Amino acid sequence: MKKMFIKGEWVEANSGETREIINPYNQEVIAMAAEGNEQDVKFAIAAARKTFDQGDWATTPASERGKIVHKIADLIERDREDLAELESLDTGKTVEESRWDMDDIAGVFRYFAEMADKDGGEMIESPIPNSTSKVVHEPVGVCGQITPWNYPLLQASWKLAPALAAGNTLVMKSSEITPLTSIKVFELMEEAGVPAGVVNLVLGPGDSVGAELSANDDVDLISFTGGIETGKRIMQAASSNVKNLALELGGKNPNIIFADADFETAVDQAMNAVFFHAGQICSAGTRLIVEDSIHDDFVSALVDRVKNIKLGSGFDESTQMGPLISKDHLNKVINYVENGKKEGARVAVGGGRPEDPELQNGFFYLPTVLTDCTTDMGVVQDEGFGPVITVEKFTTEAEAVRLANDSIYGLSGGVFTNDIAKAERCARKMRMGTVWINDVNLYFPHAPWGGYKQSGIGRELGKTGLEEYQETKHIFQNLKPEPANWF
Ligand code: NAD
Repeated sequence: MKKMFIKGEWVEANSGETREIINPYNQEVIAMAAEGNEQDVKFAIAAARKTFDQGDWATTPASERGKIVHKIADLIERDREDLAELESLDTGKTVEESRWDMDDIAGVFRYFAEMADKDGGEMIESPIPNSTSKVVHEPVGVCGQITPWNYPLLQASWKLAPALAAGNTLVMKSSEITPLTSIKVFELMEEAGVPAGVVNLVLGPGDSVGAELSANDDVDLISFTGGIETGKRIMQAASSNVKNLALELGGKNPNIIFADADFETAVDQAMNAVFFHAGQICSAGTRLIVEDSIHDDFVSALVDRVKNIKLGSGFDESTQMGPLISKDHLNKVINYVENGKKEGARVAVGGGRPEDPELQNGFFYLPTVLTDCTTDMGVVQDEGFGPVITVEKFTTEAEAVRLANDSIYGLSGGVFTNDIAKAERCARKMRMGTVWINDVNLYFPHAPWGGYKQSGIGRELGKTGLEEYQETKHIFQNLKPEPANWF
């Protein structure tokens, strides 16, 4: 039985309830997890509040906190293979992808461990004679952190590492669908010497555990990664005590392919953009916007390659794409494509479930290319979150940028061209938090990550990722106090 971690102890849900954790490849139950409720999250928040207010984590020298965060990275590296296999069992993604995730995760902990003691504040010019003025950063306090199912541990690491480095205490609610690697990393944080009460993990559903965490007045900051509709609910709940808010929401990410791009690279990267983890990536490049002079050749080359993508178990080394996360999600993707067909999209390849008998117990959907798409279609505007790519055409650079920006989302996008000036012009005009030129889906710990428009508020990773977890204070000191005699 997988338990929650509250005040330094592994505990069952106070109600005694549990949840089955399912392998999306074959629907087998891989674990039972405690199913918490509002009461459990209240205990966890009280522990984090008391530890922040009365403990010494916030005032521990930043270099000491940094050492502990480094130790967490060491332990993740030590257990890399076990963690990768657990992530694949829980999410269905290939073990090779999970290994990359684990390397990235260790890198994120290292980056914020290094950052912990690099900020000594800043003296600023004081306009008053005989005085000093300085700006310092302090932890925000008790942080609520809510993560999604698609990159469970990666998304958790983007929140845990900076919160710890900055001296906060926290309560994390991991996705109820894929909690296993997060539970394991809380074990590693305990082993690394994080003091009791600093990090707390609650498990359970969003509408009770997540909602309480977002609304509770003892929480100072809420950091959420997930869908737009949930993000809006959290924003409302967080207004109760005007919490600091960081939202990483969805994306509907365009890749503009100009005729002068390296053709083979663009075809290859168009696939990388969307078919890793069966398209269940917030930054998946699900919208191709292709110059009309190469459109037909491009689609035909893409289809030739997409039809050969090998589906299967994430544990089989020849597998290139695993299943979707759940039956509900599979049904959503099926409906999304069916609606697209009704709107006039043409299925160039895929568009249904695979027939292979070995895949029937898993939540598999074929890699799919939809052509004849226009921006007014739901299939071009809605996130979808599956292995489905839509193709639109353009004739001018201005039209390409306009189509790319025609979205409520603004998480990421790409431009493929060999004209450097054109690439730069487009990148500047694209209203997105990240733009890749002749590449896709790259991110690293020191580059900020987040969305424009409804893709979110704030940035994770990089310097800004640490600043999310800090308050800024101005301290003014009068070095020659004397009465002003105004009154
Ligand atoms: P989701 O919004 O359904 O759930 C995310 C988390 O919120 C889960 O832990 C869930 O239990 C919790 N939750 C649900 N209702 C809640 C409520 N009322 N109050 C508080 N918490 C609640 O999202 P999901 O389906 O788990 O994840 C997929 C979504 O996440 C996609 O939209 C994807 O684009 C987005 N995502 C964004 C990024 C990014 O960096 N921008 C990264 C990964 C995933």
